[in-house]
Parts: sequence; C-alpha cells; structure tokens
Amino acid sequence: MTKLQVDHTGALFIPAEELIQLGLQPGDHVGIEANDTGLLLRKLVTSVPPAVSVQQAIARKNLQTGIQFIKGVGPKLAELLAKRGIHTVEDALFCLPHRYEDRRQLIPIRQLKPGLTQVFQGTVVSAETATTKGGRKVFEAVVQDESGSIVLKWFHANGVWMKRTWQIGKQGVFTGEVTSFGWKPEVHHPDVEWLEKGADVNAVMAADPVNFGRIVPVYPLTEGLHQKGMRRVMRQVVDTFLPNLENILPQSLLSTYQYLPLQEALGQVHLPPLEAPLIDLNEGRTLAHRSLAFDEFFFWELGLALKKRGVALEEGISFQVTHRYTKELIKLLPFQLTGAQRRVLSEIKADMMAPHPMHRLVQGDVGSGKTLVALMAALVAVENNYQVAIMAPTEILAEQHWHNIHHWCDQLGITVVLLTSGMQGKAKKEAMQQVADGRAAIVIGTHAVIQDKVEFSRLGLGIIDEQHRFGVLQRGILKKKGANPDILVMTATPIPRTLAMTLFGDLSLSVIDELPPGRTPINTKIYFESRRKQVYEMIHREIDQGRQAYVIYPLVEESEKSDLKAATQMAEHLQADIFPGLRLGLLHGRMKPEEKEAVMASFKNRKLDILVATTVIEVGIDVPNATMMVIEHAERFGLSQLHQLRGRVGRGSHHSSCILLTAGKLSEDGEKRLRVMEATTDGFRIAEADLEIRGPGDFLGTRQSGMPDFRVANILRDGTILEQARSAAVKLLQQDELLQSTEGQRIHQELLQRWGRRLELAGIA
Ligand code: ADP
Ligand code: MG
Repeated sequence: MTKLQVDHTGALFIPAEELIQLGLQPGDHVGIEANDTGLLLRKLVTSVPPAVSVQQAIARKNLQTGIQFIKGVGPKLAELLAKRGIHTVEDALFCLPHRYEDRRQLIPIRQLKPGLTQVFQGTVVSAETATTKGGRKVFEAVVQDESGSIVLKWFHANGVWMKRTWQIGKQGVFTGEVTSFGWKPEVHHPDVEWLEKGADVNAVMAADPVNFGRIVPVYPLTEGLHQKGMRRVMRQVVDTFLPNLENILPQSLLSTYQYLPLQEALGQVHLPPLEAPLIDLNEGRTLAHRSLAFDEFFFWELGLALKKRGVALEEGISFQVTHRYTKELIKLLPFQLTGAQRRVLSEIKADMMAPHPMHRLVQGDVGSGKTLVALMAALVAVENNYQVAIMAPTEILAEQHWHNIHHWCDQLGITVVLLTSGMQGKAKKEAMQQVADGRAAIVIGTHAVIQDKVEFSRLGLGIIDEQHRFGVLQRGILKKKGANPDILVMTATPIPRTLAMTLFGDLSLSVIDELPPGRTPINTKIYFESRRKQVYEMIHREIDQGRQAYVIYPLVEESEKSDLKAATQMAEHLQADIFPGLRLGLLHGRMKPEEKEAVMASFKNRKLDILVATTVIEVGIDVPNATMMVIEHAERFGLSQLHQLRGRVGRGSHHSSCILLTAGKLSEDGEKRLRVMEATTDGFRIAEADLEIRGPGDFLGTRQSGMPDFRVANILRDGTILEQARSAAVKLLQQDELLQSTEGQRIHQELLQRWGRRLELAGIA
C-alpha cells in the first residue's frame, strides 16, 4: 500500500492505482465513514439488478451522466457547477431554484411597485458616477419609457467600465427588485438584456423563453457562475433528462395524499406553470414543492421503519425481572416513583424481557427523574448477571451520575466504576480490568472512554444520556461492545415531534411527562445591564435566607483561554468587590476532575454560597438548596440551553428564580427569544420556539447530529407532510411486508440507492 497524501487543497488524495485495486472506476460514487477502526471507503451501490427493470437501469445510468457532457458545458463551467455539488445530471435535476422572478409581462415604468421584482423596458437617458452626501461613489443610470423614468443604481461598480456599457440611447429590458428612496422608486443592480437598435421588444422576449415571458427560476450560484448560464444549463438538463426520471412511488399512494408524481413535480419546480402563485413558489409551498418533500420524507421514513423492524427481528437478550435489586432500591428511596416514571419503567421492562434488542428513547424534561429510571433499568440487567454501560456527554456529568448511582448501588452491594479520559495510569487500568473481568457491574463514563479499548465481559444494556449531543453512530458503537445488548437512550432536551420522528424514527419512544411533586415554579425575569446592582442585592437576600446561588458565565468555546479568563476574573471580582463576606467557588471545564469534584461537593454541602460556573453545569447537577440562578449574557445562549441551565434551580421546596442578564442592546428577535423563557417553563414549548428560531442544525448543536440532508423537505415548514410520509411508509409495510410486489421491489431498490448506506440497511429483515 502506498502512502496516502494530502494535496495542496488539504484534501486526502488517493492515487488512481490504489482505487483500481479497490475495484473503483472514474465516475463511481464512494461513501466515506469514520468508525472506530479508521476511515472506511466503500463503493456505493450503483448497479441495479436487471430483475427490477431494465428500463429503470437505463434511466439511472442516463441520470448519472456527467454534467460536462451536457451541450454547452465545457470543463470550466463543469468545474463551477461541481462547486455547487453538481456532478451529474441527477445532481442538476435536484438543484432547485431558491427563488423565482415574475417575468410574465413588461410593466410600464410608472406602474413599478416597490417590494416586487419586476421587468420593464426603456431607453438609457443618462448614466454617471455620482457622489453621495456621505462621500460614497454610486453609479446611476436613468431609464425611460413612454410612461415615465426610473433611477438604477450600482454600488461599488467600476465607473469607467459601466459608462462604456451604459451608453445614452441604448435600449434594453431590465429586471430587478424595485425599492424606494424617499418616495421615489429605484432599482439596484438590475439584470439587463440589451436590444438591437429598433428591435421589437416583444419579439426579442418571445425569442428567449428561458429568461422571459414566464416566472423564471433563480438558482443558487457560486462565484463565476451566472444566472443566465445556469438557467440555460438547467433548462437543457430538464428538457433532455427529466423524461428519464422514473416515478417510483405508485400513483395509488400519491393519490391518497393528492401529490404529483416525481417527474411532474420536478418539472414544475424548474419551470413553473404560467399561473403558479409567486408567493407559494418562493416559500416552497406549491403542490410541486410539497410533492417533492413528500417523496423525500417517504423514503427516509420507510428506511427508519425498516430499520426498526430489522432490530425487532434480531435476536437479543431476554431479561427476567426478578425484582431482587429493584424492589430493594424502591425501599431505600425517600420518595415514591411518579406515575410517569412507573409507566416508562414498565415499557422498558417489557422491552428488556422480549427476546429482541431494546432500542428505546426516553424523553423527559429537566428534573423529571430520568437518572432513576435509568438506574432501575440497569438493576434489571444486573439481576440477570449482565453488565451495564452508561455513557454521558461530559466528564462532569459522568461523575455526577457516578456519584448518584454508586450512592444507591453501594447499599445494594453492586460495584460501579467510573471511567473518564481524565483518569490516569493505575486507577484507569484497574477500572478497565474490573470491566473486562466482570467485577464491575455498572460502568459509567464519557463516550471517548467507552470507545477506548474498553472490553466488557458481558454487556447487556447500554444507556446513552443526552443523546442529542452524540451522533447516531455512537448508538452503533455501543451496540458492538456486547452481543446485541439492549440500548436505552435518554434526552433531557425535549425534541419537537417532527425532529424526533426524523432523528429517532427507528427508536420506540417513552415520555416522562410529569415532574416529581413538590417542585416549585421558577420565576424567570430578564434584567438589563443597568440593573445589575439590583441583581446583586437579590443574590444577597437569597443567601441571607440560607439559600445558595449560581452565577453562570457563557463560554463560546470551552477551550478558549480568553473566555476562561473572563469567567475567572468575574469570580475574583465578585468575591473581592461584591460579596466579600460570602464563600464563592468557581467551576469550569478546564479544571481537573478532582478539582471539579471538590468544588461540586463543597457547593452541595453548603460550604459555598455562590457557585460561579460556565455551562459545564448545564446538565445533571442537582443541588436542591440552590434557588437562584443568574445567567450572564443570556442572549448568547440557545433557548434549550437556557432551559437546561435553569433546570438546576427549582429542585427543592423553596421558591426559585432565574435572572437573565443581558448586555443592554437586544435585537428584536433576541428579545423575543428571551421572552419565551419568561413566559414558560414548558420544555416542549421552548424547544419548538428554539427550533423555529435557529433551525434544526443549530438546535441540535452538533454537525454530526444525524440530521439527514434533505434536498427540498424542511422539517419546520413541512411537518404535516412528514406525518403523512410516515404513515404512508408504515401502511406500505403493512400491505407489502417484504416489499415483494413489483412496486415494492422498485421502492426498495430506490431506498437502498438513496439511504442504504446511511441507515446501514443491507436488505430486508
Ligand atoms: P433529570 O431527568 O433531569 O436527569 P434527575 O434524574 O437528575 O432528573 O432527577 C432530579 C431530582 O429529582 C433528583 O434529585 C432525583 O433524586 C429526584 N427525583 C427523581 N425521581 C423522583 C420522584 N419520583 N420523587 C421525588 N424526587 C425524585
Ligand atoms: Mg439527567
């Protein structure tokens, strides 16, 4: 094997001779996946067995035609298109316009309306570089028709070059968004189509049906790529290749929901019918757009449903519920399980007793008591002589879990070990040894550690806390640590339904929808910087009454030293200048585990009054006597994160409050966001609002969050369509369990093409 090189763009380069050895040819598509052994490079399925349909195979092949073979696309243009992800005809067909312009008719200049993109024709009557009052250079042209005239403006234009093009007397057709300057309409940076002197405008427009006389698509571009060129290529692709695109979804299925076949829908999105409503087009809400979204969602949901069924058919461990430890624990607890905890536990137990692996997601708001549910499940596994792994996203949370869990397990005589990457040498070796030889019944750690050469003697149950912070891949890794162990995933971030369906559609869902009794409502208020003093007085009062307080400081990046310094300085300032008589502690992610542990313990034992912390306390920390939280620069946090943070108070019988301190100037949106926090403590409502404001990617806060990249569908906008697609997929599997009908086979084939690798769907079963 030759050595792999990194080329000048920083990309990994694999020489052709290596590729040939792997059986790859130019034009093949490969998938790359990082797993625990390294980078896996694999040819993606491209061959379609002839059994399905020769016609389909040919069509497929056609759609895989390289874009450079399209008439008028040279190597240069091909390279530009590649930058937009367009390598093949199929890529082009699915590169959709991001907006549309109404060029159905010419508008007399006098009737141009601000706010709309319109088309008009006229003669250039003046063209000059002008200087604004502020000293900025602007190129201005005035164009006139029989009805009136309008000013066109360019900022940052090359005046000399512009003047050469914009000669007085020239005639053209102009397109642009009309804005208004004072009461006068004007157009910035219009598109122009010059006319020959004396040419008939209508004839010219009629001769160019790609760009005029219709609602024209506007495609996303990259530098060097022009709209007109792009439109021409796309038109060519659509005209030549769209007829080759197969409609995989049967008409009967589409008719149920009144959607269009894929071919027709794509055609209409690229070339909208004359009467299509512009607003719907621009919002992606036309029937054609919705049909495309349905098509995408359908295959994804079908994949998830198949995957779920696949797991349901796998062989797993049948645990017996002996009650040996669980009953004992219940006796030790100073409280009773809530109804919701009991219900979710019985769902989990039923899964564990079944001879197939459990794949269940437990969703429960902050403080709903998920840890206890996890522990009870763990005890069932331990009763059966199996080991349990509990995976947490941060060291501090792993430590916290360890703390809580070993407190109970010690009393039950069960060995619990903690494994974090912060642990070193002998201690770590010893812990790993205990896991390997089975002395440790429960191991708690961060995910790096669970991957890290840890071997289990008999892993029966894997529990993943705060799943949304892990990629979907981790579920698979944990699973491979045992022989098909049960998997329980827990999340405290309430995930809006549509998102949960997309991300966790292959898991069964349990919701802990009830908080333990005695929780006191948290009073949340936004305070602006000017009232900081008042906030400090409130902290004082709270502490005088024997309570404790958190002051949270945002760290944009936990690793950034400057931010850490800010938090540290804040703590010093508070101690020296504001609360000299009180006991302050500081907690941040860069501290050693023992240090963190010590600080947390002091706070818990009331040896500290105020804990200044970064967001490391976001998850899981539990100190009921802490009743006040001040969050600095609250505007920098996501809503779900604020909700998590706030969940650290309101855990005892005393009234709690949360102050969102903000720097003073808030954008309208920023304020709207924070007001949601004042208005509700309902995690689901907050999550919905957060998702709406930030979009799925940011909401999940991680790029490898497992969101599929849909080309058209948008889970925020198309929630209803998602539900339809899901029920259509489930229904299909009820009718055609093995996808054996002709239609079923085609659908299955298409599913493997689109998502097979991603979902690790090998075949049916
Ligand atoms: P989360 O769901 O946020 O992980 P925890 O599991 O940390 O919540 O539970 C929060 C607190 O509530 C803990 O102190 C826990 O001991 C307590 N708790 C859990 N279940 C109950 C219950 N049924 N009744 C009273 N307190 C409970
Ligand atoms: Mg928790």
